[in-house]
Order: sequence, then structure tokens, then C-alpha cells
Amino acid sequence: MPGFELFGESEKSQVQDVLDTGVLMRYGFDGMRNNQWKALELEKALALRMNTKHAQLVSSGTAALTVALASAGVGAGDEVIMPTFTFVASFESILAIGAVPILVDVDDTLTLNPAAVEKAITSKTKVVMPVHMCGSMADLKALKDICDRHNLLLVEDACQAIGGSYEGKPLGSYGDLGCFSFDYVKTITCGEGGAIITNNDTYISNADHYSDHGHDHVGTDRGAETHPFLGYNFRISELNAAVGCAQIQRLDEFLEIQKNHYTILKSAIEPISNIAFRRVPTGGVENYSFLSFFLPTEQLAKKAYTALIAAGVDACFYWFDNNWHYYKKWEHLTNVKSLGKLPQEVLNQLPDYSKADFSKSDAWIGRTISCLIKLSWTDEQVNERAVKMKEVLAKLV
Ligand SMILES: *Cc1c(COP(=O)(O)O)cnc(C)c1O
Repeated sequence: MPGFELFGESEKSQVQDVLDTGVLMRYGFDGMRNNQWKALELEKALALRMNTKHAQLVSSGTAALTVALASAGVGAGDEVIMPTFTFVASFESILAIGAVPILVDVDDTLTLNPAAVEKAITSKTKVVMPVHMCGSMADLKALKDICDRHNLLLVEDACQAIGGSYEGKPLGSYGDLGCFSFDYVKTITCGEGGAIITNNDTYISNADHYSDHGHDHVGTDRGAETHPFLGYNFRISELNAAVGCAQIQRLDEFLEIQKNHYTILKSAIEPISNIAFRRVPTGGVENYSFLSFFLPTEQLAKKAYTALIAAGVDACFYWFDNNWHYYKKWEHLTNVKSLGKLPQEVLNQLPDYSKADFSKSDAWIGRTISCLIKLSWTDEQVNERAVKMKEVLAKLV
């Protein structure tokens, strides 16, 4: 997945353009900047590639989620449905605006189970936030139907699946708003960065203002601009955006490499009976950033993971025991450990997750192993890896 593996001349050249002007900020300094507008350029390139009307760059993927929710008017006491298997950023962004994270089971897609989503809806629900984990997507049609019927927003976290698609639409562009991360380990990187895409004119205008202290960005005198509503600072720097300008041009090249490597590994282990692969919803195309598969039992999955690592097959993950990606280890959320007092709405409405039953998620995640697909592998390395994976797994099941 990581675009940093192929950091090269085009990235350096884009950054050099910014260094030559010395204008490291995306707004203002029109006279000094020698017509270099890297953040703006990346927004245009992203909207073009994702086939949306608009894109808004921000400082991180977590910021993208926060700004997306805020831009759609989500706030204190609103409930946002999110999966048990994701990154902590999901509930961080929800809590940041005073909203309430409602955890819901995942299924064999490793993403939100639509039936479980429907069951979790209350009069306070505002948003369904699927997370396209490990390069593949949620069952977006089913989720959109639910959102339409209950008048909810669909906000896609496509941070780990940029370049994948569903029913011909780039992931992130199917829902009302879509979010990307360009942090250092994502498929394309800015070092740090994130983005929101949408076709909604109001949301994008809100995102533009909100991510820059409420600045309305009218005119050419920053100090004279007005602030139609309260905002915050989630700006990206021109240096980070410059790296992204180079990387977005390489996205399709990266996806091609990932698909190649993924296909070699998958073909090697596919013939092993008792190994099953995550379900990709009909109409979906992965971005191939991970190969995820199920062992027959939790015990065998644990054994297989240990054996793969021992055999030198690195960059594999057993998410069930992971501190950052699965609800079981989120004791800071379960025990509501915040530095300062949380909004009263959150304290009143947050479910007691120590008593929650997510055994349906456990049944899938407990049996899942995901292997990261690297861009920098040589053909020889991928083939060697395929042989090792096959050997280790065939012996176990
Ligand atoms: C990386 C990631 C984020 C957060 O992105 P940052 O840029 O690191 O803040 C959010 N959601 C998912 C699924 C991610 O993988």
C-alpha cells in the first residue's frame, strides 16, 4: 500500500517548486508565490480522478472525517454509526464534534453489516459511516438504501481504499461525502494530509470555511475576510500538498502494481481448501492494498499468523489482537478516558461498550489474516513470498 516506497524525482521536483518560492502556506501571498498553488492543484486533480464536483484538502484523514461531519451539520448528540473494525480515527472524529459513535458489527466483507446497521438506527441517528478497510468496500448499495429510507447521510471512509470502485464509481464518491488519508503509510501520501470529496456545493463551501477558521475566502485580503460561522484550523501545508501532486499522478501505476502482486499471492493460496477470502460486494473493485483471508477457526488463524511471521512473511496482520483497529482493545473508548470532560450528550448517550455483544464481528475478525501488498517488491520477492505463504498455510489447514 505505501506510496512512500516509491518516493522519487517527481515528488522532489514538486516540493522544490514550493521551496523556490518560500510560500509554504496554501492561502494568500499571491505576489510571492510565482503562481504555485499546490493544494489547489491537488484538489483539482483529486476531483478529476474521483469524478466528483469538489475536493477539499485538509491536514489528515482524521481531519477529513471531522470536517466532513461538521460540514454536513452533524454535532452534539447526533449518532454516527461506525464499524467495530476500523482505525481509532473513526470514533475520534465523531467525538471531536460532540457526536456519539455507535459501534456496529462487521460481516464477511470486513465492513459494516447492513442488517446490523438498520437495527442500530434510532431517532438520533444522523450518519452511517462505512469504512472501506484493507482495500475493499462496504456493501454500499444496501447501505445507501438504508440511508435513503431513514433520511441519513452516507459518509465513506475510503482512507485505505483509494482507487477502488463500486458500480463504476470511485470509492468515496458514492456517498454524500467521501474521505481520504494521505498519511505516510497510505497508498498515495503527502507525508501528512487528507481530503474530502463531494458533489454537494453547500458541504464543500462549509468544508472550505470550517477547515480554515471560518474564513469565507472572498477577495484577496485574508485579514479583511469575514467568518460566517465558527471554524477551526485543519489546513494542509503547501509542502505536503506538493508531494501529493506528484503521487496522485502515479495512483493508477500504484494500483496496477498492487493488483499484480495481490494476484500472484492470491493464486498461490487459493487452491488450499479451508482458506476463504473476504467477500467483495458485487459491483466492487478493490484497490488491492491488502490480501485478506479467513482460516477455519480463531485458533488456526492465530497459529497461521505466528507461522507466517516465523517464516519471514512480514507485513501480515492479525487484527483481532490489534490495539488500534479492533474494538476489543479500545479500552480508552470503553472506559471513556478523556483528558477533559466530554460533552454531556456524549456522556449521556454513549453505549456501555463493556457490555456490548459483538460476537458476530469476533466470528469474522478472529479468523482473519490480512497481508499488506507492498509496491517495492521485486517479481522475485513476490514469487518467493507466494511459495512461503502456500507452504505455511497448506501445512496448517
Ligand atoms: C489512516 C486512516 C485514517 C486516518 O488518517 P490519518 O491521516 O492518519 O489521520 C482514518 N481511517 C482509516 C480507515 C485509516 O486507515
